[in-house]
Amino acid sequence: MTSKDEITQERAERIARSHACEHCGEYSFKKLRVRPASATNRKAVGEVWHISKTCGVCGMQHEIGIDAEGDIVYAA
Ligand SMILES: [Zn+2]
Repeated sequence: MTSKDEITQERAERIARSHACEHCGEYSFKKLRVRPASATNRKAVGEVWHISKTCGVCGMQHEIGIDAEGDIVYAA
């Protein structure tokens, strides 16, 4: 299921950066990786991009899923 309106990797990264650390509320991330979502996650929750990031302040790790509209479908 692909659409020309799907967001770019660059935009997914910007969205991920605008999502504050859930532990300390900071927007500083020392590690941020954007990957295409797995086929399973695409089907299950409509995730298009998967982001792994590490807070630069408290070190908490986040896993974030972004769908084709640029909405965060889950954050953990
Ligand atoms: Zn933090």
